[in-house]
Amino acid sequence: MFLRIVPVGNLPKETAEIVKNELENLNIKCRIMPKLSVPQEAFNHWRKQYNAEIVMNSLSRASEVKFIDKSIPSLLITDVDLYYGGLNFVFGLEDPAKSCAIVSLSRLRPEFYDERANKSLLEERIAKEVIHEIGHYLGLGHCNKSDCVMSFSPSVYDVDKKQKSFCEDCRIRLMTKGISLG
Ligand SMILES: [Zn+2]
Ligand SMILES: [Zn+2]
Repeated sequence: MFLRIVPVGNLPKETAEIVKNELENLNIKCRIMPKLSVPQEAFNHWRKQYNAEIVMNSLSRASEVKFIDKSIPSLLITDVDLYYGGLNFVFGLEDPAKSCAIVSLSRLRPEFYDERANKSLLEERIAKEVIHEIGHYLGLGHCNKSDCVMSFSPSVYDVDKKQKSFCEDCRIRLMTKGISLG
């Protein structure tokens, strides 16, 4: 499997590299693309958050110029806080029809919860959420095993409880789709 990593907005340079390393451990080959700016029309002034769908749509416009092969999925990584539909926030979202997934770092940072910055904790959380969204992208639903990366995380503390790997059942579900990761 191939994937494009697309930074959106201002992200530390190493973040895309961290995501690339984690995904390459799963045998997903990644290419880091030039960064895109955050589309201002995605900003909701009342919520002070960005609409995840509109941010993802900005990719299809950019693709006319920058991206030629649309058959390769894109993973957007952003620092802005995202919402979707009736949800207060989302850590990430995917749209297989658009060959696109997005993950926000905003609520993965300990600082968001007035806790001390913690680089290794943040990297763990990024890995879990990125792999979770890729799992959805590949057709997996939420898993009822709380330590599986595909378990649903209503809060960042639930993210911390799970592993960054797929449980045996999810692994088998992927294999029946012809996908073998890691
Ligand atoms: Zn999910
Ligand atoms: Zn599972």
